Amino acid sequence: MRLCRFDEGRLGVADAAGVRDVTAALDVLPGYRYPFPPYDVLVAHLPQVVARAGALAGAAPVLPLGRLRLLSPVANPGKIIAAPVNYQKHLDEVKSDVQIHANNPAHTITIQKAGVFLKASSSLVGPGEGVVIRKPERRTDHEVELAAVIGKTASHVRAAQALDYVAGYTIGLDISIRGSEDRSLRKSADTYTVLGPWLVTADEIPDPGTLDLQITVNGELRQQSNTKYMILGVADLVEMASSFYTLHPGDVVLTGTPEGVSPIEPGDRIVATVERIGTMEVSVRAEEDGAPQAGAAHASAKV
Ligand code: MN
Repeated sequence: MRLCRFDEGRLGVADAAGVRDVTAALDVLPGYRYPFPPYDVLVAHLPQVVARAGALAGAAPVLPLGRLRLLSPVANPGKIIAAPVNYQKHLDEVKSDVQIHANNPAHTITIQKAGVFLKASSSLVGPGEGVVIRKPERRTDHEVELAAVIGKTASHVRAAQALDYVAGYTIGLDISIRGSEDRSLRKSADTYTVLGPWLVTADEIPDPGTLDLQITVNGELRQQSNTKYMILGVADLVEMASSFYTLHPGDVVLTGTPEGVSPIEPGDRIVATVERIGTMEVSVRAEEDGAPQAGAAHASAKV
């Protein structure tokens, strides 16, 4: 199932016809009182939500995808975990380009030595919200990535069992300011994590290690690769991350970007595609531009 969130917190099932509004499926979630749990409550109850959404979908109104303002399919991840230099050719381009590595030795070591890093959850938006360039004087790059969403509490999970803990997958953009600072700062500006267009439940993607992914900017192909070139696969990343900290439902694992990172600027239109997930369009704007126009950001399913 492809579950999306749109407009003012609505829930949808995306298929070839459009998006079926199944917001009523959220009624299966328990009521909460403060203090709230440290996980995303929708993802924590995903099987119940999927069952109810499936029951509602047939009679639900079908909305045209292009008119919706798509939000991040995960509303409240406790952590956004990200893999640095997880494709060899991207590590090679980082090492060879001072504009990317910025003379920071921490940027050119292997992922086995670097480990994973965290992005602020306040950086998260959906494709309909767009990217707002925070530091226009700094080089700011696109990075397209496969994103895995954790479905069950996971601690000290071995790679062989790790995919059992994944609820589903979505497309991630890890927008990155280049420079000397720590990754957790450079990649955590507001809007610098984009997830969308929807969460594809894990049953539809039994092997996340064979997916084509690409990104275009203003119609020009910038990155094109396949997740088979990841140095550490999804299962390895879950093992590594869960050896340091407990993963909770809704935690996001961005799996790293292939070669071809390049600068973006206000006015650009990004189109990111991951095989078996779909395609999302994301606009880039300046802080002074204000909110994007309604309907300005679209997403489309690609079979
Ligand atoms: Mn990245």
